[in-house]
This record gives sequence, structure tokens and C-alpha cells, in this order.
Amino acid sequence: MLGEMQDWELRLSKLIDHAAREHGTREIVSHWADGSETRSNWAGVRSDALKMGAALRRMGIARGERVATLAMNHLHHLTSFFGITGAGMVLHTINPRLFDDQLEFIANHAEDKVLFYDAAFAGIVERMKPRFRTIEHYVCYDNGEFDALLAAENDAGGWAEGDEHESCHLCYTSGTTGNPKGVLYTHRSSMLHALASIQPALLAIEPKSAMLPVVPLFHAAAWGLPWSCAASGAKMVYSAVNDPVVICQMMQRERVTHLAGVPTVWLGMFRHMDETGEDLPHLERAIVGGAAMPRVMIERLMKRGVHVCHAWGMTETSPIGTCGADTADWDDLTFDQKVDAKVLQGRVPFGVELRCVDLDDPARELPRDGKTAGALQVRGPWVVKRYFKGEKDAVGEGQWFDTGDVGIIHPDGTLQLTDRTKDVIKSGGEWISSVELENAAVGHPGIAEAAAIGIPHPKWDERPLLVAVRANGSNVTAEEVTDYLRDKVAKWWLPDAIEFVDELPHQATGKISKLRLREQFRGYELS
Ligand code: ADP
Repeated sequence: MLGEMQDWELRLSKLIDHAAREHGTREIVSHWADGSETRSNWAGVRSDALKMGAALRRMGIARGERVATLAMNHLHHLTSFFGITGAGMVLHTINPRLFDDQLEFIANHAEDKVLFYDAAFAGIVERMKPRFRTIEHYVCYDNGEFDALLAAENDAGGWAEGDEHESCHLCYTSGTTGNPKGVLYTHRSSMLHALASIQPALLAIEPKSAMLPVVPLFHAAAWGLPWSCAASGAKMVYSAVNDPVVICQMMQRERVTHLAGVPTVWLGMFRHMDETGEDLPHLERAIVGGAAMPRVMIERLMKRGVHVCHAWGMTETSPIGTCGADTADWDDLTFDQKVDAKVLQGRVPFGVELRCVDLDDPARELPRDGKTAGALQVRGPWVVKRYFKGEKDAVGEGQWFDTGDVGIIHPDGTLQLTDRTKDVIKSGGEWISSVELENAAVGHPGIAEAAAIGIPHPKWDERPLLVAVRANGSNVTAEEVTDYLRDKVAKWWLPDAIEFVDELPHQATGKISKLRLREQFRGYELS
């Protein structure tokens, strides 16, 4: 017997309708690449998004067709999130830092019809035009073209109605091996993810929050923040430039309470604050994910009274899988115990299920004992089932998706991520966690950033090489770092060599690129 409640499809247009109706004057502040700034609000975004939908229909774009963006974080990009999905088309956010071959592959694979892009990426667009086979329209966001496009329309048209299972957004993973793979979110999956992520145990977004996503909109929809901030009516602050000077200024002036970024973003902020003596007086929550947050950074934020939300996830999980919330016994813990807890990746919200299986025998599920590491698998309504145009499902029996991460699950359900399957260093039949080694190393005040990779070794299979960037003004030596590590990691984990570099290779999202680092040190001889 069916129930008798209302039909109300979980479509993303409902979010912007809500934000505009209930929080219409809540501001959206946008700092552009040329240094100018625009102030809009949720009502303004809704009106512009409706106009954008009308413009896309006028171009002849049909429902379900893909409309791409190649852009940094700004008001027009946010508008496109609601404009494209609201018109029933599929938003395809392209990462501008991809190599040309990858750009060509994903735009053609997605069969994009339109490309909205930043003037800063005009060079890429000109170069790639002959290779983009399906794109019929190019519109620049910040040279007046986009404004003119909207000015020619009105906002009376309304949204496309339909099934909540329809696709809304396509996001390709960076594809460290093989071609990038597209994750095709549905209105329903993005909505459920947004509703889950605003709860206090996750990102705690409320109408009085002011969110600055440093994480790019092209990276898993900036962790879904346009959707979740619209759901809660929060203010949003965007910067098209990832400059700590600009970000610190905006945080102070706009009273930013929530900042979301990968650990390297925080590293840049801390450096800037050390140099200038600036502080972040309004910051309440630091949302960190995408890579493990080193203990020193967590400690620094917590000492300032900032609540650290250390989250784990991936493009395939929309992206939030787990997040570190205060535990039930939080008030009884010492400061150090609290930091210990925040270093871990946290627990799942309702809607995500986790398990670890034996790395060699995936049929064997491992106990949640806080010590046995295994291949981390996940399932739930906002987890991928099949990649876009995939010939078979990306999940195994019981819909479990293999994350490619190695983790330990503690008895209370807390996830401890120890590595990625392809980054663990295999030494003498045992594993060394590159992540733990890196975290220990950056605890040294003379080290700003570090990455550990396995170097082939005739006897041990692989041995760790630590590649590190010295902190400003530091002359720390390899011997000093090794000595420092002695009581922090097992003896056989100590790196066989430490190399200092000026800079580590990063991905577009700010994460260290182990792939490029391994290429850089290919053929390296351990003495
Ligand atoms: P890519 O696979 O292209 O890096 P994602 O952005 O989806 O794309 O990255 C997801 C991966 O990032 C996870 O599988 C995990 O290895 C890593 N990761 C994400 N959050 C954390 C975290 N809090 N701690 C450690 N690693 C993390």
C-alpha cells in the first residue's frame, strides 16, 4: 500500500527557490581575477540562473545535454550551477589544470555543447577549439559576454520539472591511471548529500554561517557547497584567485565563519599569517579534506578555538564519506586526546556505509578493531554506481564501491585512512604508510611540506624516500629530520633518503601529486 504524502521531487531547483524565498538578501560576494568585486544575494542568483536557463534554451540546448564550465570560483560560476541544472541540462565542471589530452578526452566524451570559461583560460580555449568536437557555443564569463547573455533574457521562464533520478552534474576524476572517469550525479544524490552535509556533526552550515570555499567549484562541486549553502541560506564568499592575501582579507571583512580547503590551502594561509601577524577572528569551522590534515595544522587551529571538520571522501562519493565530529565523551578528553581524535578521518553520517576488506582476499570483511588495515569500500545513495558511459557497474556485490584507499575502522566506527592502495610503500613484505610518514615529518618546525614515495630496492622491494620543502628561513638537514622521526615512527619506516626541494608538484586541487613526484624521482638511487 502506498502512502498518501505529496509528490515533491528532490530537484536542485528547489534549493535555489528556497534560498531566494527564505534567505533572499543573504549575500554572495565575489572577488574576480582582475581584483574587482561584485555583491549579489540568493535572490539575485536565482533570477540570473533563470535567465541563464532561458539563454541555453534559446541556443537550442536540449534537456540532458551537457553544458561545460572551465572556471575558478566566482558568482557567475555559482549561477551556472543553478542555471544549467535548473534548465534540466547537465553541468559539466572541467578542471582547467588538466593536460590537453585529458581536456580533449573529457569534453568529447561528455559531448559538451556549450563551454562557459574564464578570460584567464582563453588561451586554453583557443588552443583546444579544434580538438573539441561537439562544442557549438563558447561564452566568456568575465569579459562582458556572460552579462550580455543574461541581459537579453528575463527570469519568468521557470525550471524544468522531472524525475529526481535525472542527471544534473558530471565530474571527471583526475584519472591517475588511464582516461579520466566521469561521475554522473543525480538531482536526488546531490540533494541528499546536501541535506546530510549541513547537519552539526558534518559541516554545520546555518543561516548565520558565512562560507568561503577555497576548494574549487570544479572539484566535486566544491564539496557540494553551492547546494548545501543554498539549503541552509548561508552567505557565500568566493575568490577567483587562490591568494592567501586576498582570502585573509575577505575572511576578515566578510566575517567568514566557515572556510573549506585542502591542507595545502591552510599551509599557505598559515605562512601568510606568520608573516603579517594577521589572524582570523571570525573563523569558527575549518573544513578540511581531500588529503590528510597534518596534526600540527589541526593543533594550531584548535588552539585558536576553531572547530576542525576533517572529512574524507572522493568525487565518487559526492564527495563526503566521513567527517570528524566531537565524540560523545568530548568534554572529558584532554586537549591532546582531542587532537588525536581529529587527526583521524571521522565517522559516517546516515547515508554512508563503510567496510574494510582483506587486501589480498576481498571476500573477507575485516573486523572493526582499530588495528587491521584493509581495502576501504563504501556504499550509499550518493555513491557512484557506474561511471558515465561505463559498460559495467563500478561496484561489486552488495553495491560496495572500492575506494582505492587503505583504512582501519575503529570499534566506534571512526575511519583511519592509512594510505591509497597505490601509494603504500611495500618494504620487506610489510607496508609503510606514506601518509603517516609525511604527517610525522611536517611536525618538524623546519619542514613546511613533505611527501614520501617508495623507491625500488633490490632487497626490500621498496624503501621510502622523503621529499620535503623547508619552512621559510629554515636550514634543517636530512640528519636532523631523521633524528626527529626516530621516536615518531617504527625504525624500519625511517626514510632511506631525504631530499629537499623548493616546491612539491601539486594537482589542481592543491593536493600533492604523487604521480608527478614519482616521475620526477624515477631512477633515483638510494645510496
Ligand atoms: P582524485 O582521486 O583525483 O585525487 P578525489 O578528489 O576524489 O580525486 O580524491 C579522493 C581521494 O583523496 C581519496 O580517495 C583519498 O585517498 C584522499 N582523501 C580525501 N580526503 C582525505 C582525508 N581526509 N585524509 C586522507 N586522504 C584523503
